[in-house]
Amino acid sequence: MILLRADHIGPLEMFKIGVGPSSSHTVGPMVAALAFRGRIEPILKRADNCRLEVELLGSLSATGKGHATDGAVCAGILGYHPRLTPVKDIWDAKELLEAKGGFESCKFKPSTDIIFGGWNLNDPSGSTRLPHPNTMRFCLYENDQIALEEIWISVGGGFVERLGERAETEQKIIDLPYPYDTAQEFIDQVLKSGLSPWDLVIANQKVLGLSEEKLRWELGEIWKTMTNCIEAGLSTEGILPGGLSVRRRAKKLFQELEAGKTPAWSEHDLRPSVYAMAVNEENAAGGRVVTAPTNGSSGLIPAVWRTLKERQNLDDTTLQNGLIVASVVGALVKVHASISGAEVGCQGEVGTSCAMAAGGAVAMLGGNIYQIEQAAEIGIEHHLGMTCDPIMGLVQVPCIERNAMGAVKALNAAALSLASDGQHLVSLDKALSVMKQTGLDMNNKYKETSTGGLALG
Ligand code: SF4
Repeated sequence: MILLRADHIGPLEMFKIGVGPSSSHTVGPMVAALAFRGRIEPILKRADNCRLEVELLGSLSATGKGHATDGAVCAGILGYHPRLTPVKDIWDAKELLEAKGGFESCKFKPSTDIIFGGWNLNDPSGSTRLPHPNTMRFCLYENDQIALEEIWISVGGGFVERLGERAETEQKIIDLPYPYDTAQEFIDQVLKSGLSPWDLVIANQKVLGLSEEKLRWELGEIWKTMTNCIEAGLSTEGILPGGLSVRRRAKKLFQELEAGKTPAWSEHDLRPSVYAMAVNEENAAGGRVVTAPTNGSSGLIPAVWRTLKERQNLDDTTLQNGLIVASVVGALVKVHASISGAEVGCQGEVGTSCAMAAGGAVAMLGGNIYQIEQAAEIGIEHHLGMTCDPIMGLVQVPCIERNAMGAVKALNAAALSLASDGQHLVSLDKALSVMKQTGLDMNNKYKETSTGGLALG
């Protein structure tokens, strides 16, 4: 389902358990492939001479190898789910398909049937312009004739859309008790209702079919996955995959931190930094992570939450409330700017995550709605214009350190807003419109194509 309004995008849409290294280039393509597999199932059941072809286009073509997009597509084609399937099975899928030459009665050899197709598309309407930088074409042939051809786009954070689906679903807006689509409308609803920001979201989610009990259970699972991811990153060393020879640093740094071997003045910032790096190293290794709001920016929120849990002794319910408020910020960015590095650069990933973390942190620490909005605005304002230029298309450099820096910034943004009365000059809504325009103005080589900036070495 396509989510068009901020109030329709809930915490479980923003925080999705999946696998690394990328939500837009790994999880999204896997989800799209899984959906396409479901759509061709009736054809596969009756036909015995089928062949599947998958074309990865735009940024998916430019950096798909580094992001393991082809492996993720194979996993989706086999019916694997990013959350439910064991990570090892997901990453074995490509080899399995290569060895078997297909699945059921359908021929599909990843080495020849997955095409890294560049920036042009010959879609069914004859257009050659990509509808989105992250575009996929799935084509099922039956007896060498096209049986089903569809264009899918991965719009960031693991969200996918089938081309044409938007027009079909535009009418599915549900009347909510506390409707909002901008930050100002959210503030107004909180003030008018007298509810806490998280209770307001819970009330809306209930009307959208998600009970508080189920939501809190899921948030518990999400926090558990984030925590496990930190622990895995803190206890693993070695070289990250992909060929860049990047060494994992979180374990050693954490040991030095715990042993008091790091400079005393640095402890305050180093701790959240190490937690963030632990998650992003796991993400880079294709491990189990939570989009927050993307995989590339998956380390920042776990790091801030763990830091505040330790320093402020926050309980699980408070941590969940913080995630709910963070998801509101993420939804506002998704609707009014973008959470895709391929669309707006890294301001959409680490920038968004910083804004989410800052707003959520203030909520957890008892700030009012004005302070929450201010913290989120500070979080995004100081990432405006940040480019996406991952070296070799891998979610490693600059991504891992970038999460560490973002976590520290988020904590500082929360501290700044909590130390003030929440009155500030630039609204979050204004910052988001600037972010969107900045993304539009940004040269394509800085939008997850690995053709500019740091990626050039
Ligand atoms: S540079 Fe930022 S947006 Fe680009 S892949 Fe890394 S984390 Fe994602």
